[in-house]
Amino acid sequence: MNLIQMKTPLVEMDGDEMTRILWQWIKDILITPYVDLKTEYYDLGLRHREETKDQVTFDSAEATKKYGVAVKCATITPNASRMTEYNLTEMWKSPNGTIRAILDGTVFRTPILVKGVTPYIPTWTKPITIARHAYGDIYKNTEMKVQSGCKAELVVTDKDGNETRQLIHDFKDDGIIQGVHNRDNSIAGFARSCFNYALDMKQDLWFAAKDTISKQYDHRFKDIFAEIFEAEYKEKFEAAGISFFYTLIDDAVARVIRSNGGYIWACKNYDGDVMSDMVSTAYGSLAMMTSVLVSPSGVYEYEAAHGTVQRHYYKHLQGEETSTNSVATIFAWSGALRKRGELDGTPELMAFADKLEKATIQTIEEGVMTGDLYALSSLENKQKVSSKAFLEAINTRLAALL
Ligand code: NAP
Ligand code: MG
Repeated sequence: MNLIQMKTPLVEMDGDEMTRILWQWIKDILITPYVDLKTEYYDLGLRHREETKDQVTFDSAEATKKYGVAVKCATITPNASRMTEYNLTEMWKSPNGTIRAILDGTVFRTPILVKGVTPYIPTWTKPITIARHAYGDIYKNTEMKVQSGCKAELVVTDKDGNETRQLIHDFKDDGIIQGVHNRDNSIAGFARSCFNYALDMKQDLWFAAKDTISKQYDHRFKDIFAEIFEAEYKEKFEAAGISFFYTLIDDAVARVIRSNGGYIWACKNYDGDVMSDMVSTAYGSLAMMTSVLVSPSGVYEYEAAHGTVQRHYYKHLQGEETSTNSVATIFAWSGALRKRGELDGTPELMAFADKLEKATIQTIEEGVMTGDLYALSSLENKQKVSSKAFLEAINTRLAALL
C-alpha cells in the first residue's frame, strides 16, 4: 500500500507518563503504517524540559506559529512532589500555560459521544463545546504571602511615571494576595474565535462571567463581547439562525444542567478549566473529550483534555497491564492531520483522519473498550481490553475502512 503523503510537517510535542506510552503506540499502530508522517519533534517530557531549562516549550510554541498546526501529548505540570521525583532545579510552569500565553487564543473542548454511554445528565443528547479563553487571569498571576501589619496596594505606573494606587487590604493578620491581568486585544481575539466557531458549527454561543461582582475586570469581557457582536456578527448570526447571549456564570451553570446540549459555552480561563472537566466527566470520561487551541492568527494546537494518567503509568512501570483510554489522544492526532490536510490541500490526509475517528468510534460501539468506558457502557456485548489491545482493535477496523 502507498503511504499517504504530507506536504508540511506537524509540530509534534511529546509528553509524559502513560500518555507518552500511548503516544508512541498510536503512531506505531495507527498512523505510520498508513501515513508518511512528517513532524518537527519537540520533547516536552519533563526530563527534557529540565535539561533545556524549559526552552523546548518556548521553541515548540514558536514552531507552531511557523507551521500552523501542532499536536501535543499531555505533560506534567510540576508540583512539590515532582521536584524530588524528577530532581528539578525549578518548578517549571505548565507547558500548556506557556504555549497558550505565546499563541493566545481560545481552547475549544467537545465531548465525543458514543452509543452505549449515556451522559450523567441524560438530557444532554448533543455535545456541549466549552470555549476556554487561553490567556491571562490566574494562569499569568503574580502572588505573594503577606504578613500581618502589611498594607497591600495595586500600583499602576503610566508611561510618564505617574502612579495610581488602590488599597487591596490592610493586613491585621497573615494572608495572601494575587495580581492578575488580561488584555483588550486578547479578549477581543477570544470573542472573535468564539463567534467564528459558532458560525462554523451553526450553534448558539453563550458567554458567562461574574460582572456583578467584578465590575471592572469581568465587565470588560462582557462589554468587548457585546461591542464586537453588535459591530461584526449580529447579522451573520441572524442569517445563520443562531444566537448569542451573555449571562452570569452561576445562571449559566443552572441553564447548562437543564439543557439538551448542542451549543458553545464561552468561559474565562479558569471557568473553562473547571467546567470542561465537569462537562467531560458528565458525558462519560475525561478521555472522551477533544481539545483544540485556536489562535486569533489561525494557528491550531490539538491535544487531549486529560492529564498524563499517572496512576496507570506507575502500574505500567511495574509491568502490569493497563486499560487506558487513548481516544482523546487519537482525536488530537486526527484533528491535527485533518487540519494539515485542509491547509495543504491534501484530501487524502483529511479522509484518513475521518476514517481514523470513524474506526475508533466503531470499535467502542461494537463493544471493545477500555476500563473507564466499560464501567459506563450499557452495551450487552461489552469487553474490557488493555491499552494496546484497544489500539489494535481500532487498527483492524481502520484497515478495513482504508
Ligand atoms: P489525569 O491524568 O487526567 O488523571 C486523573 C484520573 O482520571 C486518572 O487517574 C484516571 O482515573 C482518569 N483518567 C484520566 N485520563 C484517562 C484516560 N485516558 N484513560 C482512563 N482513565 C483516565 O489527571 P491527574 O492525575 O490530576 O494529573 C496527572 C498529571 O497530568 C499531573 O502531573 C498534571 O500536571 C498533568 N496534567 C496535564 C494536562 C495536560 O497536559 N493537558 C492536563 C491535566 C493534568 P483512575 O485512576 O481512577 O483510572
Ligand atoms: Mg484542568
